[in-house]
Amino acid sequence: MSYTATIGLEVHAELKTASKMFCGCKNDPHHGEPNTLTCPICLAHPGTLPVANEEAIKKVLLFGKAVSATTATFSEFDRKNYFYPDIPKAYQISQYAYPFLQGGNLAAVELTRVHLEEDTARSQHDKGDYSIVDFNRAGVPLMELVTEPVIHDAKTAGDFARELQLLLRTLGISDANMEKGEMRVEANISVSKDADKFGTKVEVKNLNSFKSVEGAIEFEIARQTKLIEEGGEVVQETRGWDEVKLKTFTQRVKETAKDYRYFPDPDLPKMKITESLLPEIMVKLPNEKRVLYQNLGLPREAIEILISSSTLDPFFAELVEIGLTEEEASLASNYLISDVTAILTINPSLDIKSIKIEHFKELISMLVTKEINSRIAKDLLVELFDATEGPKDIAQKKGLMQVSDERSLISVVESVLERNPAVVAEYKAGKEAVIQFLVGQGMKETRGTANPATLLKLFIEALKN
Ligand SMILES: [Zn+2]
Repeated sequence: MSYTATIGLEVHAELKTASKMFCGCKNDPHHGEPNTLTCPICLAHPGTLPVANEEAIKKVLLFGKAVSATTATFSEFDRKNYFYPDIPKAYQISQYAYPFLQGGNLAAVELTRVHLEEDTARSQHDKGDYSIVDFNRAGVPLMELVTEPVIHDAKTAGDFARELQLLLRTLGISDANMEKGEMRVEANISVSKDADKFGTKVEVKNLNSFKSVEGAIEFEIARQTKLIEEGGEVVQETRGWDEVKLKTFTQRVKETAKDYRYFPDPDLPKMKITESLLPEIMVKLPNEKRVLYQNLGLPREAIEILISSSTLDPFFAELVEIGLTEEEASLASNYLISDVTAILTINPSLDIKSIKIEHFKELISMLVTKEINSRIAKDLLVELFDATEGPKDIAQKKGLMQVSDERSLISVVESVLERNPAVVAEYKAGKEAVIQFLVGQGMKETRGTANPATLLKLFIEALKN
């Protein structure tokens, strides 16, 4: 018997704006001092009036362009009524019948809608016999995205969430850090015997890492399938995800659909959206970058590492703009992903922006023309941070340019052979691998500047005699 799993996702993302959604308070939900970024509006004092944040609306419209969604020509904000201590007005300003965006798709997953609302305050219940509430987060602009129920496995859901995070970051809409709650995923999961019919839907909330998204979906598919196989019935409910036990657990059983008594917020104006209001996408989208980097011959893994790095990618993109051959692109991406990343990890105070693009390009060109070898390149790389001189000047001053000139290396070869008669004897007795030791000695003597290939050739010739 085969079963079909159907998954739809709901994702909330905190938007990166200067101020909150309906007041002038600073938008900084992770601000250390609780309840300091508040005002009568976001604390819901009687008689206060909200004013919609244009920057937040533009960010949602920008997102719509990037995912080819249909932008509404008319939109409005609604009140979603419910009582909870983290929602001071006893309603949340959200959108119901007229979301800003409908349709569109991302990572081959169709989207249903995207709307804008305000975040709630942050409540904590782990203090003992009382709870605390921090209103710094109350009123932070929150984008809610809903996908169509078209996902059938955990991996596709995880990939969708990763692609969404990348897009939000690329567009500068949200930092979308899942651990910080800047991007929160909920999954609706059902399993059915009949592929044409949906099974009973279970909602898993508060998934705050990609691993949790995939783990919770895998667990739910297995749990629901087993229940059905054993003749049981899946209960429609909301479940949480236990990251330690790697299990979902019942949070609350839904008896009836919640009635939020949505109605248009009379304190906010209706909105007409015309083409001229739509913001332009000013950056290259992840898929455009993928094509561009593929055309430069970069392998897939390198492309994904680059485009998901806010440090490396702007630097690499600038290099691409000045023009790179395939060989240069491959070298540049390798040095950025391994060596530059290692340097930045060891010295967090260094900034990649302090490397001049021309200097880095010169270093790559020197590798291509074999003026330096990879060992010297690594040494020079460290010196490029905050450098006033280019790598060629530095290498020349320090005598680090690679020596490929045979005449100048012959004396090195002779002196190494003279100092290692035992190794020479071993080689002549047939143990040819020891030649690598001799090349190593030659590299040491030239402080790494010799071209190892030239040295090897010279040693082979010298040992023939
Ligand atoms: Zn405020």
